[in-house]
Amino acid sequence: MTGPVFALIGLAVFVGAVLLARRAGLRAGRSEFLCDDCKLDDPRLCSRRERPNATECPDYSPR
Ligand code: SF4
Repeated sequence: MTGPVFALIGLAVFVGAVLLARRAGLRAGRSEFLCDDCKLDDPRLCSRRERPNATECPDYSPR
């Protein structure tokens, strides 16, 4: 009984960590700026002042 519960908790922690890492923009080997590979990197789509040099962004959407 406890085995499957711990497996589910472990899976949830893993998925959460992956999502947090993605959101934080931890992308090895890529530009330091999120905008460089964000599909919203266009003045018609993004009006954030930090564009095009955002290093953190809640709206970051990888291409
Ligand atoms: S949404 Fe954020 S990461 Fe994307 S272009 Fe705009 S500022 Fe850059």
